[in-house]
Amino acid sequence: MVALAFLLAVAWTAAARGQDAEPLLLGDDGDRLLVLAPHPDDEALGAGGLIQEAVELGVPVKVCFLTMGDNNELAFMFVRKHPVVMPGAVRRMGETRCAEAREAARRMGLDPDRDLVFLGYPDFGTLRIWNDHWRDVTPLRSMLTRATSVPYVQARTPGAAYAGEDLLEDLTEVIREFRPTHVAMPTAADQNPDHRALYLFARVALWTLAAEEGLEPLRLGYPVHYPRWPSPRGLHPALDAAPPPYLLRSGEIAWRVHSLAPWQVTNKLEAVRAHRSQCTYSEGYLSSFVRASEWFGDFPDIVLPGGVGQEKVEDGDTGAFSQDDAFIGELAKADPAWLKLAEQQDAEEAEVAEADADFLDRNISSDGRNLTVVCRFSRPLSPRASVTLRFHGWRADTPFGEMPKLAVCTGPRKVKSVTDLNRRLDTSAVALPGGLARGELGVTVPLELLGNPEKLLLSARIAFGEMPLDWASWRAVDLGTGAPAVPAASAPKAPAVPKPAQPAGPADPYAEVTARRGTAATASGAGSLRLAPRVSTAPGRPSASKASPTPEPPTAPAEPGKKPAKPEPPSRRTRAASAGSADEPVVW
Ligand SMILES: [Zn+2]
Repeated sequence: MVALAFLLAVAWTAAARGQDAEPLLLGDDGDRLLVLAPHPDDEALGAGGLIQEAVELGVPVKVCFLTMGDNNELAFMFVRKHPVVMPGAVRRMGETRCAEAREAARRMGLDPDRDLVFLGYPDFGTLRIWNDHWRDVTPLRSMLTRATSVPYVQARTPGAAYAGEDLLEDLTEVIREFRPTHVAMPTAADQNPDHRALYLFARVALWTLAAEEGLEPLRLGYPVHYPRWPSPRGLHPALDAAPPPYLLRSGEIAWRVHSLAPWQVTNKLEAVRAHRSQCTYSEGYLSSFVRASEWFGDFPDIVLPGGVGQEKVEDGDTGAFSQDDAFIGELAKADPAWLKLAEQQDAEEAEVAEADADFLDRNISSDGRNLTVVCRFSRPLSPRASVTLRFHGWRADTPFGEMPKLAVCTGPRKVKSVTDLNRRLDTSAVALPGGLARGELGVTVPLELLGNPEKLLLSARIAFGEMPLDWASWRAVDLGTGAPAVPAASAPKAPAVPKPAQPAGPADPYAEVTARRGTAATASGAGSLRLAPRVSTAPGRPSASKASPTPEPPTAPAEPGKKPAKPEPPSRRTRAASAGSADEPVVW
């Protein structure tokens, strides 16, 4: 069986090689490689060979770790059953993993003091920061360390709040200071939420730096967490790697391959093994990344020139909620408790199996005023099914935190909720597209409600009742520079009038909006639902850039081609002391 899997993998690799994959060449004058790693070990797993190649060629390298890996990154599969751990012990785990990353760096020829930077954001919490913790929403409270700000003295900015603005500023400044020509980073379709979050924050940071300084490094997405991948499992250092079948099948990604010299393979294995705390229970899995090649690629952006057009993207099956049985089996060898948890999870998954529906594709279109997203699924949907679409828009002239962060939950017959962070909007702010088939869910959103973005990050999840079923990868949408200005008189649908003083919970894709969160934050922001571009909608959060207690009046949209004003620096630090929410929703 193992031999068969091995042969299949060899055949698969040969097939993958048949695709157009360019060799990845470093070493041009001025090349600089930045590696963005969600956790200590991802740098070695994803780019351990490329890092050594850069060092060998004299290309400066910087590795930036988003989290300390202080939550076991495998625990995401079993989050509801995760044992209670003392915060102090968790923090010590973070320090252990930091020390391991330094040792791994030495094995790859790096100088840990000069070449590594740790940001210290919460392991398994950064996607929630991305989704929900911006503006006047209180910073995230880490499930395990109980911290609401970076607790590590080793971090770049100790005390930075677990809030979107602070994370984005830290990351943006790392990139701005290092000025990379190449950025190795996670992919948007990775199963691990921190991997996706780092991709999303990095895209925004890179858009801002492209607009402000013309800094446009080559993005090199490295896959890590995919179902039944890498295959075969175990150490096969002579075998070529291949991308996850799901990504390869899409045919959309222009892959680049770095072929490792034998000495690079040897050192990569040493670097992976230097992450000792991870290898104790999953060395077989981690050593599966030690192969003769490393593949890098990212989905292309969906381009709607001038904010008008249509594009259909295949979503295939990300297998988001399926078990990786081989992986679980390996974990169970080290600790039978994992097997027990896996069995429980299997039973829960079986409960919803009959309602299962996978994404087939998404049709994204815009007429310059409204953006319509229609998701097509593998079977007709029951009235209990709903899809939650998230829209995080970017404009060069607006601090990203101030742009709307819309989550729209819609069923087959009606829009169930529209939220912008913790503020609930009237559902009439958006509309169901006409002519939806039984296996389709979608929504039409005025671009004005999204803040007239130039770029957009867009995701979709389907749930049955409150049980998540499947998700489609985040994708970047390019709406062209100078997004369409929408004169108020010709706007097809005015933004919603808020219901007065209605408390709203966090945007939780699997529950009806509840009133669990922050009435103070709601009260402070409830009057500002107009969501016009460049208007501060968040007078509640203390911020250097918002000295005035009254909202600024709307300004005219930027003219196409006109260089936008440099945005003011996002608010920072002052929020670190404020308390986090005691009731953090778990959204995956
Ligand atoms: Zn990771």
